[in-house]
Amino acid sequence: MIKTFNINCTGCGACYSKCPAKAITMVENQEGFLEPLVDKAKCTNCGLCSKICPVLNPVYRNNNSPACYAVMASDDIRQESSSGGVFPLLAYHFLEQGGFVAGAVWDSPWSVKHIISDKKADIELMRGSKYLQSTMGNCYKETKDILEAGRSVLFTGTPCQIAGLNAFLQKDYENLYTVEIVCHGTPSPKVFKKYLEENFDLNMIENYNFRPKTHRGWGCGVLLDVKVNNKSKLIEGYKDCYNLAFHAGLIARNSCGECKFNKLPRQANITIGDFWGIDKVNKKYNDKKGISVVLINNLKGEILLNILNSSSKFLKKVPIKSAIRSNPNIIKPNKNHRQRELFYQNIDKVSINENVGRILNDNCDCMLINLWSTCNYGASLTCLGVKFLLEKLNMQTKVIR
Ligand SMILES: Cc1cc2nc3c(=O)[nH]c(=O)nc-3n(C[C@H](O)[C@H](O)[C@H](O)COP(=O)(O)OP(=O)(O)OC[C@H]3O[C@@H](n4cnc5c(N)ncnc54)[C@H](O)[C@@H]3O)c2cc1C
Repeated sequence: MIKTFNINCTGCGACYSKCPAKAITMVENQEGFLEPLVDKAKCTNCGLCSKICPVLNPVYRNNNSPACYAVMASDDIRQESSSGGVFPLLAYHFLEQGGFVAGAVWDSPWSVKHIISDKKADIELMRGSKYLQSTMGNCYKETKDILEAGRSVLFTGTPCQIAGLNAFLQKDYENLYTVEIVCHGTPSPKVFKKYLEENFDLNMIENYNFRPKTHRGWGCGVLLDVKVNNKSKLIEGYKDCYNLAFHAGLIARNSCGECKFNKLPRQANITIGDFWGIDKVNKKYNDKKGISVVLINNLKGEILLNILNSSSKFLKKVPIKSAIRSNPNIIKPNKNHRQRELFYQNIDKVSINENVGRILNDNCDCMLINLWSTCNYGASLTCLGVKFLLEKLNMQTKVIR
């Protein structure tokens, strides 16, 4: 077996799903992300995996300056969704029309996977943001089978997953509609599991809600709700190491920092996210129950907009600039933290709490004082050598000039 190492691989799994020889499996790397592994004995060297890889062959065919809307579903729908409830509005419509919906659900033990379903109960499980990378499994293939059987599909996911689906299908299906979320980057499932193990009794967790609205509503600081033993444990986001690391870009996949898809022009028919800057558009639009930003990226997006127009409580066209100002991830990927690599180097050596704390609090085990004058390369190299040596000994080291 030979690992195909591509530092920009998003783990979308298009190559795995497409390989005619079934020579590719998705395996977990040291950081806990899935990446393709090619079985040389089965590989026929047809090259299809590289030909369709969306990272190697990115496609940009949507509007570079999409129309932008602020949208809200009814209060009861928004209560169970992370933002303005755009996802459930569209998903319910597709179910009513006899279609299918694909999205991310919790999988045991506390990982996230993509499923495709025509059952309302499954749509309910897809609701809510789960801030870790979801596993695609065979969802692309199942989507294709359903599309070829003539049923319509609403496929939702991160921009790289939409790019992966399009790459796998290599065809515009009339009955396929795509929705992507604005994406801050997807953390590793291994980090999330480790964090849960360290901070809770894993077997006792019944639900983990990254975005509950029950206590403070929407947009009023991060509050996590972890249901253990039938009781809600509320955790302030600024005290939670996973939440802090996620927002700092410390635990996202390597490719996320330079994502080729979370930017304009976008990948899906429509893009949905939080309308964080809504107060600057008009304070009256913010009832603190959640409001979404929606970008209409192409003609099919307009069909989805019509569905929202007839099912939402509030829908208003606004300048895209007003949404970008407070949500730059609409137009560009979130940069990974400069010490992301150090975090992952230490992932199996220290606890997540300690690992995150050391980096974000700028703690270190050792200070190296170095005296050098301009162009004293010998001193600089000695310093670098000692720093590497200390880090090999698992000591986080800072250099003071
Ligand atoms: C990892 C991640 C990062 C995000 N970053 C931003 C951001 O920087 N800015 C911003 O405005 N919005 C971001 N969002 C999107 C936002 O949190 C909401 O998910 C989105 O606005 C939809 O809300 P809703 O109320 O319409 O739908 P909900 O009813 O809350 O439905 C959630 C939707 O998100 C999908 N989803 C949930 N978890 C995942 C996952 N792990 N992988 C793929 N799809 C998933 C579900 O399938 C469903 O389509 C992010 C979401 C995720 C999962």
